[in-house]
Amino acid sequence: MRQTELVDRVKAYDPDADEDLLNKAYVYAMKAHGKQFRASGDPYFAHPLEVAAILTDLKLDVATIVTALLHDTIEDTLATYDDIKANFGDEIANLVDGVTKLSQLELFSERTKQAENFRKLMLAITSDIRVLLVKLADRLHNMRTLQFIPKPEKRRRIAEETRDIYAPLAGRIGMQNMREELEDLAFAELNPEERISIVTRLQRLEGASGDRIGRIADQIKRKLAEHGLDAWVYGRAKRPFSIWRKLQLKQLNFEALSDIFGFRVIVRTEDDCYRALGVLHQNWQMVPDRFKDFISTPKTNGYRSIHTTVIGPEKQRVEVQIRTQEMHEVAERGVAAHWRYREHVRSEGDENRAYEWLRDMVDLLERDTAEEFLENSRLSMYQDQVFCFTPKGDLISLPRGATPIDFAYALHTDIGNTTVGAKVNGVHVPLHTPLRNGDQVEIIRTKEQTPSPLWEQFVVTGRARAEIRRFLRHAQRDEHVKFGRNILKKVFEDEGAELTEKAITNVAKKLHQSKADDVYAEVGRGALRGHEVLEAVYPEFKKDPERRKQAAFAEPKGKKRPISIRGLTEGISYHLGQCCHPLPGDRIVGLLTPEGVVIHTIDCSELEKAQNTDDWLDVSWGMHAAEGGPSVARVLVRVKNATGSLAAVMSVIANNGGNIFNMKVTNRNPLYFEFTVDIEVRDLAHLQNILGALRVNTAVESVDRVREKDVSAVAG
Ligand code: MN
Repeated sequence: MRQTELVDRVKAYDPDADEDLLNKAYVYAMKAHGKQFRASGDPYFAHPLEVAAILTDLKLDVATIVTALLHDTIEDTLATYDDIKANFGDEIANLVDGVTKLSQLELFSERTKQAENFRKLMLAITSDIRVLLVKLADRLHNMRTLQFIPKPEKRRRIAEETRDIYAPLAGRIGMQNMREELEDLAFAELNPEERISIVTRLQRLEGASGDRIGRIADQIKRKLAEHGLDAWVYGRAKRPFSIWRKLQLKQLNFEALSDIFGFRVIVRTEDDCYRALGVLHQNWQMVPDRFKDFISTPKTNGYRSIHTTVIGPEKQRVEVQIRTQEMHEVAERGVAAHWRYREHVRSEGDENRAYEWLRDMVDLLERDTAEEFLENSRLSMYQDQVFCFTPKGDLISLPRGATPIDFAYALHTDIGNTTVGAKVNGVHVPLHTPLRNGDQVEIIRTKEQTPSPLWEQFVVTGRARAEIRRFLRHAQRDEHVKFGRNILKKVFEDEGAELTEKAITNVAKKLHQSKADDVYAEVGRGALRGHEVLEAVYPEFKKDPERRKQAAFAEPKGKKRPISIRGLTEGISYHLGQCCHPLPGDRIVGLLTPEGVVIHTIDCSELEKAQNTDDWLDVSWGMHAAEGGPSVARVLVRVKNATGSLAAVMSVIANNGGNIFNMKVTNRNPLYFEFTVDIEVRDLAHLQNILGALRVNTAVESVDRVREKDVSAVAG
C-alpha cells in the first residue's frame, strides 16, 4: 500500500483527518526502519503499514493509525520515546510507548511472572484501549505471516499466546471478526491436521448438498419479502476453530453439530428485527431453548442481536441471527464501532458496555494475588453470559454456569458471605444450581452463616471466588495455627526433640515469619515443611548425612514429584479416585475415608453417596499439578467396524501426545465396535485436545470420557 492510499482510506471515513500528520508518520517510520527486513523477506516497513491498514478497516482515529505506523520504532530502531514526543506530541508518544511495553511482556513465561505480566497488560489496556487495538492489529498481521518464522517452537509459542490471550481479549471487546481470524490462524499452526480434517468434512457437507447455503438464504429472503421486510440475508459455515472448540468442550460428535451453518438477517430497524423473528417462527418450527434476545438485554461487550434456531426449509436445523445494520457494525467491530473521533474512550459515564468487564478486572486487581487474578480473568474471558433478575427486577449479568452464590456476591460481598439458601422463580434450589437466562433469584440469608470452602468448587465468577477465598483466608488461619502446631509436635517428637514456644519464636525471623503463630500457620497450610522448622531450631540436624537423605526422600525433586493438591496439609495421604479418574484441571473434592483422602471430580457419583458433607474437603490442584507426571483418563470410543478404524484411533492419540496403556473391547457388532482406552495425559486440557482430535476423525462415531468403575455397565 502506498502513502496516498493510506491517507485516502482514512479520509474516506474521517474527512477531517489530519493528512499532514499521517504523511509525516509514514515517512518517519519508513526512514526509521530503513533497510530492515522481515522474516518473509519483505522490507520491514511493510509490517507497520499493514497494521495501519487493518486499523483503517476498523475506521479508527488518526492518532491510532499514526501509532500503528510508529509502533515498532521505539523497540526496533534508533528512535526514542523523546524523539516521538518531539515529533508527534504526548498523546501519540504515550500510545507508542504503551504498545512497546505490551510487546515486551512475555505472557507465556513461568507461571508467577506470567500472572504479573498479565496484570501489567490489563493495566496498560485500561489506561487507553487504543493500545490494545494497535497490539491486536500487530498480532493479526504477525499471525498472517507466521509461516515465515523458521523456528517451530517460536511459531508455537506465538500461536498459543494468540489463542489463549489475544483472541479472547479481542472477543471481550466485541471484535468478533478479529477474534475469529486470530483463533483460526492459531489453530492452523497448533492443530494443522485437525483443521484440515474439519475443512475437508465441511467441504464434503457443502458439496453433498449443492449450494444449500445459498438456497436457504434465498428462501428466508423471499419469505421476509412476502411480509414486506426488505432484508439482507447471508449464510456461512462456522469457522473451523469454532467447530473444533465445540467438539472439544461439548460431548458432541461432528454429525450432531446442528449449527455448522449460520445465517444472518440484517434489517432496517429494531422493530423489523422482531417482525422478522415472527415471520421465521411462523414459517419454520423453532427449536426450544435456542432463542436468545440480546436486543433487549445486550451482552456485556455491547453485542446486540436476536438468535434463534429453526427447523429450516430443507428440514435441518438452521441458526439465525437477526440484527440491524448498526448492530451488525458493533457485532463485527466491537469497541472500534463505538469510536467517537477525537475523544478519549477513557471518559467516564460512557454508555459503552464494552468497558464494564475492564472495570471489573481493575476491581479484582486490587484484591487478588497475581496468580488468582490470572485464573479469574482467564475464566471470565471464556464464559458466555446469563441474565438474571433480583426480586425487584434489577438485571444482573453473570457468566454462564453461574450459581446463586455468584449472584449473591454480584449484589454485595456481605450478601454473599451470609447466604444460606436461594429461591429461583419462587422455588427453593440447592446453592450449586446453575442459573438460566431470565431467572428471578432471591437470596436467603442469616447472620450466622459464613462462606463454605465448598462454594469455591462451584462458583464461576472471579469476584465470588476472590471474596470466598478472602474470607476463608482469615477463617482458616486459626485452624492452620492449630493444625501446624500439631504437625510440628509430631515432627519434633519423632526426632526426639522438644517443641517449645520460645524456640519457635526465636527462629521465626529466620523462616521469614514475624511470630510463632505465623510459623504454625505456614506449616498448617502446607507452605512450610515441618522439617524446615526442625532444621531451623536444630541446625546440626542438617549436617547429619543419614537424616539429610531422609529429608531428600521426603521431598522428591524433578519429574517424579507427586501430583500436588492444594488444601491438604503435609503428611496427609491421598490418592485419586479410581471411579472418576480426576485430571489436573477437573474441579475436585477430597473425601475423607478410613484409608485416607480420596480425590474425586465434583460430578462423581461417589460424592453423592457420601451424604455427610463434613467429610468433604475443599481441595484444588496445585499450581504445578500438570507437571507432576501423567494422569490416566479412561475414554469410551465407538468406531465404524472397518479396516483401519482402530489404527486411526491409536495414531490420533499418539500424535497428540497421549500414551495408551490399556485397552478393552466392550462391544462388537457388524456395524461398529466399541472399546475403552486408558490414556496417560498431562491434564484436562490435554485430554480435551485428544477428544477433539478423535471427534474430527471420520473413522470415529463417538468418544466419551468414562467415569464409572465398571465399564461394561456403561457399555451395556
Ligand atoms: Mn509489530
